[in-house]
Amino acid sequence: MAKTSQHFCSFCGRTQKQVVMLIPNGEGVNICNDCITFTHKIVQEELGRQKFSISGVDIPKPQQIKSFLDQYVIGQDAAKRHLAVAVYNHYKRIIQTDKEDDVEIEKSNIILVGATGTGKTLLARTIAKRLNVPFTIVDATVLTEAGYVGEDIESILTRLLQVADYNVSAAEKGIVFIDEIDKIARKSDNPSITRDVSGEGVQQGLLKLLEGSIVNVPPQGGRKHPEQKMILVNTQNILFICGGAFDGIEKKIAQRLNSHVVGFFAATDKLRFDRENMLQYIAPQDLKAYGLIPEIIGRLPVITHLDPLDRQTLRQILTEPKNAIIKQYIKLFAMDGVTLSFDDVTLEYIVDKAVEYKLGARGLRSIVEAIMTDAMFDAPSSDIKTLTIGIDYAKERIENTTLFLSE
Ligand code: ADP
Repeated sequence: MAKTSQHFCSFCGRTQKQVVMLIPNGEGVNICNDCITFTHKIVQEELGRQKFSISGVDIPKPQQIKSFLDQYVIGQDAAKRHLAVAVYNHYKRIIQTDKEDDVEIEKSNIILVGATGTGKTLLARTIAKRLNVPFTIVDATVLTEAGYVGEDIESILTRLLQVADYNVSAAEKGIVFIDEIDKIARKSDNPSITRDVSGEGVQQGLLKLLEGSIVNVPPQGGRKHPEQKMILVNTQNILFICGGAFDGIEKKIAQRLNSHVVGFFAATDKLRFDRENMLQYIAPQDLKAYGLIPEIIGRLPVITHLDPLDRQTLRQILTEPKNAIIKQYIKLFAMDGVTLSFDDVTLEYIVDKAVEYKLGARGLRSIVEAIMTDAMFDAPSSDIKTLTIGIDYAKERIENTTLFLSE
């Protein structure tokens, strides 16, 4: 007996009884649940492939990348320029490896050195929005040498594979931001005689990834175990951006500069250093003095710094970036039909408090949150349509909070 169009899948031909669900298009064509799942998978794979496909036309120029970063990150020009160029060259390298050529462009991994809260992660996250290569942020503090408690170094690549929807060739062109790289510095400048589990061993492991090698990656992360099927990933074209605060490195920079001054320029006394921002003079020797092994430093040829955030910058951070903290609160209140605004003196006061408590940009949010909590609690149930945060209101809230009490 011939099957009627209402009762079988037009794709696989199975009848309604053989499948869980049959969805009709109303014109005599049906599709079953299994065929939907199957075709959905094909579509997803194709979309994933297109998402990470790169052609010369799509490549953003360094100036475009920097202007994009400018919308979200205040200042930090040196770091932005270095990042923009590194990412641009990364794209170029990816394109060239697809073609036969004698001149091979080597990758230029980057290291960003800047005090905590000055925008390293923000820069990395922001640049990720503008890229169409897989991008992931990992924290070096969770990494340990194979065989110890913690995550294997290869887990870095697991994350990259995951964001690339397990498309290996896309992951192999991706970018990884390794945060807190300073936490795996070895504890002294002298090469250790005994093994240094947390520091040097991890650096050695990381070296393998940075210099480009074929790595066995556990697809689900975690510890490697014999039964798990590994995925081979070639790291040759993966761009690594490392970030770290390198607390106290200023002293090492100053020592180097001073000995330099004494040796060569003492008589002329012409060199003047900006003591407030010593990081701008950072050089590979300082990273070595801090405890990064020379091989790692050699694999991070671009060194750049982030400037400390001064009062003026903090003030800008509060209101200017595309998703500035104040803009976020205005939006939150607008969702309840309340027009929120802040007096200028209040904004200045918030910045003063962040400076006073040495909280940097991260502190701005806690301060605004402390000021706004009561209003956020009450406003949704009240009839008010406008709310202006004046200085007295802000002061009272801050004085009543226990958040910023020093011991
Ligand atoms: P880091 O990684 O250097 O420790 P983050 O990038 O995590 O610091 O910065 C913490 C927060 O401070 C960010 O989420 C952002 O809100 C704010 N911030 C820091 N620096 C800047 C900056 N230069 N421009 C805009 N916001 C900043």
